[in-house]
Amino acid sequence: MKTDYYEILGVNKGATAAEIKKGYRKQAVKHHPDKNPGDKSAEEKFKKAAEAYEVLSDDNKKARYDQYGHAAFENGGAGAGGFGGFGGGGMNMDDIFSQFGDIFGGGFGGSRGGSQTARVKGSNMRIRVKITLEDIVNGVEKKVKIRRKIKADGVSFKTCATCNGQGQVMRVTNTILGRMQTAATCPTCHGAGQSIDNRPKGSDSNGMIQKEEMVSIKIPAGVSDGVQLKVAGKGNEAPGNNSISGDLLVLIEELAHESLSREGMNLHYDLYVNLSEVTLGVSKEIETVSGKVKIKIDSGTQSGKILRLRGKGLPSIERYGTGDLLVHINVWTPQNLSKEQKQFFEKNISDENFTPNPSKADKSFFEKVKDMFS
Ligand SMILES: [Zn+2]
Repeated sequence: MKTDYYEILGVNKGATAAEIKKGYRKQAVKHHPDKNPGDKSAEEKFKKAAEAYEVLSDDNKKARYDQYGHAAFENGGAGAGGFGGFGGGGMNMDDIFSQFGDIFGGGFGGSRGGSQTARVKGSNMRIRVKITLEDIVNGVEKKVKIRRKIKADGVSFKTCATCNGQGQVMRVTNTILGRMQTAATCPTCHGAGQSIDNRPKGSDSNGMIQKEEMVSIKIPAGVSDGVQLKVAGKGNEAPGNNSISGDLLVLIEELAHESLSREGMNLHYDLYVNLSEVTLGVSKEIETVSGKVKIKIDSGTQSGKILRLRGKGLPSIERYGTGDLLVHINVWTPQNLSKEQKQFFEKNISDENFTPNPSKADKSFFEKVKDMFS
């Protein structure tokens, strides 16, 4: 059970933005890693406070939280927004300092509670990829052109003189707690520990250039709209000798199918048959995600019957099976009858064979399913 965000910040449910900020500041100062070196539980509390503040300081997220509680940010929850944002906690120290460092008035900014130089990571890139139901059946490999930042050819970096390669400088600041020595991100190299040595022509101030690149994205079978995939290392590169690249985040967009509609792993197909066909029995060709299939409609089949074609749906992304294709039988009632047709129906209107007489089996045709392959 996760602790209530208001409780974490020590404020009431109806707290104002200023009270929330004050509450966060109090918790953050109390549990700040620089004040509690090596104390894991303080670090946890510090992170929790940041997570709570991240939500409660954002009107949109706060409204979702007030309505749904923590469920608003869990995967698949009412407000899950994996695309952008933290999608349910999981903030790390770097996120916290880069996002809320300024709440401390700069003195804490960039501090990482330790002295090791963080490896600089390039920013993530986000793209959308459109796929069809057919792509989802077997999975698909998509080639996408992206423009990413990379280090220019011939660029070189040297150890930053300001921080001596540490990426951080020590600062003494006057805070509400008195004088504190804190580590801050080096203003010259922004934490990289390196600065540019040789900057090739055409590159930016960090020695980076934009480059178009084809990236191949493997999309697994069974994905659905809104799923986000990650291609590690295909985001922007970062300057410096031992920096690592960001990631490419791929948002799946599912294209609507002309005649099939999706419901989880199952597919639905509306089949229209005319009165003669359904009265006499007929064989019909229908479209599935894996090609055309012939199905037999027995004579006397009632409108509304659902035929289940097992395994003709979509695979599960966890690979535990395949859905079915549900064919809904819709009987088309003829309109604009000719004189002869009209006479035929008039003649039969009171005929015993035309009188509805649903049996128990017919009544439950929504549950009743039938395999029909040919
Ligand atoms: Zn530096």
